[in-house]
Amino acid sequence: MDADLQARIVLERRARYAVLHEEFLLHYQPIYETEEHNLIGFEALVRMTAEDGSLVPPLTFIPVAEEMRLIDKIGRWVLREGCRTAMTGPVHLTVAVNLSPAQFLTGSVSEMVAEALKDSGLQANRLELEITETLLLGNSEAIMVELRALKATGVSIVMDDFGTGYSSLSYLWRFPFDKIKIDRSFMQALDGSDRDAETVVKTIIALGRELKIQVTVEGVETASQAAFLDKVGSDQAQGFFFGRPGPASEVGASILADSEQQRARTSKAEAELRLVK
Ligand code: C2E
Ligand code: MG
Ligand code: MG
Repeated sequence: MDADLQARIVLERRARYAVLHEEFLLHYQPIYETEEHNLIGFEALVRMTAEDGSLVPPLTFIPVAEEMRLIDKIGRWVLREGCRTAMTGPVHLTVAVNLSPAQFLTGSVSEMVAEALKDSGLQANRLELEITETLLLGNSEAIMVELRALKATGVSIVMDDFGTGYSSLSYLWRFPFDKIKIDRSFMQALDGSDRDAETVVKTIIALGRELKIQVTVEGVETASQAAFLDKVGSDQAQGFFFGRPGPASEVGASILADSEQQRARTSKAEAELRLVK
């Protein structure tokens, strides 16, 4: 108990320091569309640097930061940094930023987003905001108003970790989400040859298609999972199989590999066309 308490005190102290000195960094994980396997963008995932230089994962410090009411400042930094980095990349790539429900309680998220877009010069349609259904649990009209205001700025609103928690389908018609991300627990269940998981993934993809909501599958770790997604036709995929999250300095390598691949595909198609002629 003592050790837990001690660890918590250290974490709180570090979180306070990190906010003051911006001791955070973003790792970026590539997201691919499934049909041609083209890179479409990155998800920005925050890490806090510990005193010894190691990285503290978000699931460890975000809940603490929420309780300490530091999440607004962290969220603002993440958004600014994510937009700034996206501006250094090709214009067809998007950046996805996660928002904590606590950010909606304290300030105006739409104002913060508008400010980040203006300061960075990033086009709104290149920014995706990921929320989870916990935000919608309270059925609050104020949250809906804020989400609509955000969408009106031209950014995309994404339902993250879909299929966990309460997963009320009513969320999907109460707000026009641009994208659903199927939680990675479904990919884990697939590997256990869980036929029901396969059916549920297929059904969510079909539902997305009917509702004209894009579907991304998270946590794709193996070639067989990727092949399954090809078969069932999810729109996008993300996971260690395609690329792990890495610092901004490594983002260039994914972009380069992607444009090489696209170039090779174009040359092959042109060669085939010449043969036909
Ligand atoms: P998330 O938004 O669902 O992000 C995906 C998480 O799954 C990331 O963990 C990523 O590293 C991990 N992941 C991606 N592909 C795979 C895979 O193939 N296998 C496995 N096992 N894991 C995979 P990370 O970076 O530790 O982030 C965890 C969660 O922390 C995020 O889940 C998100 O909810 C939260 N988070 C991250 N960055 C932020 C942020 O800037 N603000 C807020 N509020 N929350 C954040
Ligand atoms: Mg996310
Ligand atoms: Mg997720």
